[in-house]
Amino acid sequence: MQIDTNLRRQLIEAMAETVEAHWEELTALDQAIGDGDHGAGMKRGFDAVLADADRLAEQPLPAALTGIGRTLVMSMGGASGPLYGTFFMELGKALDDAPDRAALGAGFARAMAAVAARGKSGPGQKTVLDVLAPVSAALAGEGDAAGIARVAAEAAEATVPMRALRGRAAFLGERSVGHMDPGARSASLIIGAVCAILEGNSA
Ligand code: ADP
Ligand code: MG
Repeated sequence: MQIDTNLRRQLIEAMAETVEAHWEELTALDQAIGDGDHGAGMKRGFDAVLADADRLAEQPLPAALTGIGRTLVMSMGGASGPLYGTFFMELGKALDDAPDRAALGAGFARAMAAVAARGKSGPGQKTVLDVLAPVSAALAGEGDAAGIARVAAEAAEATVPMRALRGRAAFLGERSVGHMDPGARSASLIIGAVCAILEGNSA
């Protein structure tokens, strides 16, 4: 799939727009089982990416992704800043300028593994990885962009009954049960926004 300047710009704008539309929801989720800063952190991060969209979109896909990751690391803060930053930077290292479906799947898996290493975490612990892992599996399968977006949304919902074992929410123990993980929700939003744009540009 050719991801040209125009498409790179659309992807950046779509990610920033979904964060803008949902950051208060992320705040509320993080208020329930964390410290309430996830919405503001995501907004700060993706506002910074959007502010640099012209320059980022002009770069080839690997450099654009690495640049997005660096911007997120520098602007977001919290536990999720380095994790989101790692994801985009590793994806940038893994992909070339015109990745096919197999390359996208492999790159996504590598980026997810880097997040897991950085967070010393894995699926089943009520984190962003509970969305990344099923999406990675779906990418390795046959599902189209709309199907992958659905997988991400359902995976975020599936964190509600989980007990948090990583991050701030883990301090709550049993009391973390019954709330959606904020990072899982933000990851599903970002993946949903990317899939909505890619839907019309099939791999
Ligand atoms: P903080 O916990 O520092 O306030 P944020 O509120 O920005 O950070 O992000 C919280 C989210 O980060 C959690 O909902 C979870 O999805 C994710 N997270 C936190 N710690 C880890 C970890 N060790 N591994 C994977 N994800 C994590
Ligand atoms: Mg927080």
